[in-house]
Amino acid sequence: MPPYEEYIEAIKPLWESHWLTNMGEYHKKLEEQLKKYLEVPELSLMVNGHMALELTIQAMGFPKGAEVITSPFTFISTTHAIVRNHLKPVFSDVKLEDGTIDETKIEDLITEKTVAIIPIHVYGNVCNVEEIQRIADKYNLKVIYDAAHAFGVSYKGNGIGNYGDASVFSFHATKVFNTIEGGAVAFSDKKLYERLYNLKNFGIRGEELVTEVGANAKMNEFCAIMGLCNLNHIKENLNKRKHIYEYYRNNLKDIQGVRLFENKTDVILNYAYFPVLVEDNYIMSRDELYVHLKHSNIYTRKYFYPLTSDQACFKNKYKKVDLENARELSRKVLVLPIYEDLDRKDACNIVEVIKY
Ligand SMILES: *Cc1c(COP(=O)(O)O)cnc(C)c1O
Repeated sequence: MPPYEEYIEAIKPLWESHWLTNMGEYHKKLEEQLKKYLEVPELSLMVNGHMALELTIQAMGFPKGAEVITSPFTFISTTHAIVRNHLKPVFSDVKLEDGTIDETKIEDLITEKTVAIIPIHVYGNVCNVEEIQRIADKYNLKVIYDAAHAFGVSYKGNGIGNYGDASVFSFHATKVFNTIEGGAVAFSDKKLYERLYNLKNFGIRGEELVTEVGANAKMNEFCAIMGLCNLNHIKENLNKRKHIYEYYRNNLKDIQGVRLFENKTDVILNYAYFPVLVEDNYIMSRDELYVHLKHSNIYTRKYFYPLTSDQACFKNKYKKVDLENARELSRKVLVLPIYEDLDRKDACNIVEVIKY
């Protein structure tokens, strides 16, 4: 959170204007500043990351029942956004080295019903964007990235939101940059801005004119101001995270049975998460380590377990695909605490408990 006084000062003008939502001054300002920060040509703010994803898919106008290739090693939102658009998720396996979709398995999953690929930059690990684009171009598919974890990540000098047809960010309270609740879509097609605007604001285009059947997914001014304040501190915050991240990496990398994801070259990370993989030659299982840490008041997350394809609402409903790697990661992964104010003493203690 930004300093209390900074936020309180910043929201004062709202008591003068009474302009609380409906694409106000701060909504506009945050869109402009995020375009600059993320280095993307176009950006549309949304009430949260999930609606950003759901409405972006809707904006593409896919026919009902069409197939979308995605991966199940993600937060449930990705799969929900596909299914809630009356589309069929086709789950692809992921790569063991970084948890992103295995691009070598995508082509085999394409049928005449396939319309899009929705890959996830999971933990901010960058998907193989070049190969995914090559496949999409070859089969005329749309690519929408779930970039909820990838705020501020760049690849080969480009903001991560420049790949595919659109990239969706989440600004939820738990993410590396927050607007309390919020999200955004980054893209380059100007027409998509208008479509998303209609979808997030009831399709209202004038006092007496509604042109589309839209939902309500606008970001309000309090949230936009939270974002503007947090953006003032983002550099310093990511830098603090970087130090913790590097401390963890250096001190965990040589522990037997603890594996870390590989970092691609040419990537600037955002240090949003610190996942570790508890391999079979560690002294205990992932679930045992989770409990062991909890007994020391260290709260980790089995993020992502179970796979979205195995959740009660989706189990056995969609095309059966071998998800061996995704299952393995899901069984082994544990995400450690990482946040700006995590001090060295606590990080050191966490490492010691893992060393056993
Ligand atoms: C957080 C998250 C979302 C959803 O974003 P909200 O802002 O919480 O609606 C979608 N996908 C992934 C991978 C996420 O982590």
